[in-house]
Amino acid sequence: MSQKKYHIITYGCQMNVADSETLAGILGEAGYQRSPTEDDSDLIIVNTCSVREKAEERAIGRINDLRRLKKVRPDMNIAVVGCMAQRLGERLLERVPHVDIILGPDRMFDLPEILKQKTHVPEIHTAFGHENLDDATPVRETPFSAYLTITRGCNNFCTFCIVPFVRGRERYHDSDILVRQAQNLAADGVIELTLLGQNVNSYRDGALDFPGLIRRIASETDIKRIRYTSPHPKDLTLRLIQTHAEEPKLMPHMHLPLQSGSDRVLYKMARPYLYKHYRNMVKKLREAVPHIALTTDVIVGFPTETENDFQKTLAAFEEIQFDSAFMFHYSEREGTRAANELADDVPHDVKIERLERLIELQKKISYAKNQFELGRTHETLVDGYSRRDRNILKGKTPGGKTALFAGNSSLIGKIVTLRILQADSWTLHAELYQKQGGYRPLGVFRPQTGAQIGPVTSPAIRQPVSRAAGGERQ
Ligand code: SF4
Repeated sequence: MSQKKYHIITYGCQMNVADSETLAGILGEAGYQRSPTEDDSDLIIVNTCSVREKAEERAIGRINDLRRLKKVRPDMNIAVVGCMAQRLGERLLERVPHVDIILGPDRMFDLPEILKQKTHVPEIHTAFGHENLDDATPVRETPFSAYLTITRGCNNFCTFCIVPFVRGRERYHDSDILVRQAQNLAADGVIELTLLGQNVNSYRDGALDFPGLIRRIASETDIKRIRYTSPHPKDLTLRLIQTHAEEPKLMPHMHLPLQSGSDRVLYKMARPYLYKHYRNMVKKLREAVPHIALTTDVIVGFPTETENDFQKTLAAFEEIQFDSAFMFHYSEREGTRAANELADDVPHDVKIERLERLIELQKKISYAKNQFELGRTHETLVDGYSRRDRNILKGKTPGGKTALFAGNSSLIGKIVTLRILQADSWTLHAELYQKQGGYRPLGVFRPQTGAQIGPVTSPAIRQPVSRAAGGERQ
């Protein structure tokens, strides 16, 4: 009998990418063979995102497209897994009745077992549980970089966010197992490891906290670069800042979602910090690591947001000088606390106008910060080709910024030294730098507008600015 084939389509955040990689490993062990195309697959899996309505609509559109395959090959199975599957459950069948299996994030790894007992009746499993993925071997997209999920779920219930409802409460993976998995990844050739969690810095394993886990991975494995996403400001500790200052494997970049510069709006969002607290932590972070890149998420037009509140967000951007930001306008998300408790009372055109003003400001800040990169050198991990030109390679600087340069494809997966020649708001353009060396001595970036917190010195990450509404970029 020929081997059954599967194809995975993934939407959403890095957690979903990591989940798809784990599911691919589990299916491989169950005897399934991966196919690059859905056309010859016996099983098509759509791993979905629920953070924004647009993400759900895109997934539903794609699932609808699969109807043509189902007509030709009625024996194939279509499985919808992940956050949208959890949120809608059986209701999903009203929109896409040709789906065979619906599995929430905690049940998707049971897919091979569910397939064994599958009848013609749709299988729907959305109960929360404690998935055991300790022995799973993910099938990764790239051999030189990997994700490692250290926590699942979230306890925070920010009022705009659906994640705690679809991902459940926080669960932390065992640190010994995580270290062992990181060792195995390093032995497989992984250079850069990104630790993942919806609220990654709330990680705990007994007395071991998140900085402790980073230090263990740094000292007990051959991984060369460590990143993480996304931390919550309320769990940003001095120990984590100290770890950034002391641990050379920990890359100088933090994506720290601010969400609003107004304390009143932060309260409405159930974000348990004041802007004053956030800026103080940024100041400490930049004192400890002057060249750290700082990026953020923000929502404008949240219910009750006034022009005065929005001005506070603009002032926060002027003061902090983020390297870049994901910027969204609010739109109601069914099932969230904000949708249940707060009227969506900021007119749409006002939201758009505020978003445009904020994007304009951030573009100027990103441009000024990127100009400061000219002439600098960075040890950069080459991760592939430029989207537009396969003669151009792209890499990620320590600050997480995208740098493009002309080079041979044999450099993909290697760390090279690049010198920055040109820069716009989103991208650095560079050349291979022959001399050995790393950073040139760091100066202090002087913002053209606003005040500045701490010694802001270093590079940005290419972050698409976005008009979509929704939660934290996960
Ligand atoms: S925005 Fe982040 S921290 Fe807040 S509830 Fe959603 S996942 Fe949790």
